[in-house]
Amino acid sequence: MKIVHISAECYPAAKAGGLADVVGALPKYQNLLGNKASVIMPHYYTKFRTENQFEAIHTSFARLGYFDYTFHVFKLLNNNLGFDIFSIDIPGLFDRDKIYSYGDDTERFITFQIAALNWIKNLEIIPDIIHCHDQHTGFIPFMLANVWEYRKLKKVPTVFTIHNGAYQGQFGFNLLHYLPPFHSDLTGLIEWHRAINPLAAAIKCAYKVTTVSPSYMDEIGYSMNGLEGLLNAERSKSMGILNGIDVDVWNPETDSMLEKNYNEKTVETGKAENKKWLCKEFNLDPSKPLFTFIGRLVGEKGADFLPEAVYKLLTQYPKQQNILILGTGEKHIEQALWDLEPQFKGNYCSYIGYNEKLSHLIYAGADFLLMPSRVEPCGLNQLYALRYGTIPIVRRTGGLKDTVVDIGDDGFGICHDQCTAWDITYSMERAKILYKDKTAFKNIRKQIMQIDHSWTKASSDYIELYKSL
Ligand code: ADP
Repeated sequence: MKIVHISAECYPAAKAGGLADVVGALPKYQNLLGNKASVIMPHYYTKFRTENQFEAIHTSFARLGYFDYTFHVFKLLNNNLGFDIFSIDIPGLFDRDKIYSYGDDTERFITFQIAALNWIKNLEIIPDIIHCHDQHTGFIPFMLANVWEYRKLKKVPTVFTIHNGAYQGQFGFNLLHYLPPFHSDLTGLIEWHRAINPLAAAIKCAYKVTTVSPSYMDEIGYSMNGLEGLLNAERSKSMGILNGIDVDVWNPETDSMLEKNYNEKTVETGKAENKKWLCKEFNLDPSKPLFTFIGRLVGEKGADFLPEAVYKLLTQYPKQQNILILGTGEKHIEQALWDLEPQFKGNYCSYIGYNEKLSHLIYAGADFLLMPSRVEPCGLNQLYALRYGTIPIVRRTGGLKDTVVDIGDDGFGICHDQCTAWDITYSMERAKILYKDKTAFKNIRKQIMQIDHSWTKASSDYIELYKSL
């Protein structure tokens, strides 16, 4: 089957979060099942672009309203990813180093979608399935079905995956002319609450809608920033498929970013070496349990409660634990985390920024990983933590609910229901009790490293879904 994934992110070419990890792994595993899956993404001017070789294979125009943008399709050459990457360079829109957060993101991603379809419609062999990811590609199912220019692709089934329903990309009808011409009777297909909404358009027009965990599928039926009613109306064509992880990239036995590699048999010494490195680097005490957080410092991740939780725990129980935070996000949370450092020197440190290598070292060297998320569509961090023998402490929501079982229920993690500083610190106290019970702690570490969260199952679930179309 010829599958084309279209996405704003794909690891290792461009990553802002879990979307990149999924799109950078799923096609590889689909190819291992005998398919021909590839990825189309924007050609950002990142380090990846300068460090890799690309071949220009197509040049054309994409019309956005009254402007024609020239675009070039590049194929990644020195590629051992297990799937092809085609990146679309649109000078003026994507020749920048960040993925998102520009004032003209609407223009950028609509042009990207138009360019992608302009290229696909000229391919000799058209895809059997087009799989779109998140709102940046949300108009594609609509355009394929309803825009005359793309009539050659009209019968190509589309799957749309919601990785994060909070970001919908809405904009006003004054920009309707950005989309290629279509019959005005169809305007309702791109509209939600009197705005143009690419996420809503995708939910309405894709053949199938998936979310990245079954629990998130249930949750968005009653909480999804105003799209709940639509989701419920389209429930019969929707399903949750739990993400996997790329077990080649995320393997403590071979991970080249670690100080010391290890497996289930050598987990104790391996983790101790990585912890020692982290503690030296961040001036922490290796004899104490190490709690960590990795992620976007935003309300969605419950990160706004971290400063209060850190303060509470370290004032109430000084010198009993270390806390290390790696993240970037809202300025007031970054500032609050910074501000705690002088007071708790030696037991607390925050690294404000994005650092892939450090994240691997933290998964390897930490004892516990905090995920107090308000919303977590799937969550990959807890899956990486499990594979690296780090015990997750999670709020029961979305994919966290589907993948972490509390030690009180014969499980291997620590779970809480509310998203408050109190719940976080209470769970950390439970974790400290577990840490002291060396036998139980070691057994859990070994056990969690063996849980299979590879893409093997999920990639075949997607293939079955494609076949049904
Ligand atoms: P998100 O909602 O951000 O996509 P996920 O749990 O699905 O959350 O995926 C987050 C991914 O981003 C993981 O691979 C995690 O390790 C990585 N990550 C998040 N923040 C950082 C950071 N500051 N530095 C390095 N990696 C990060």
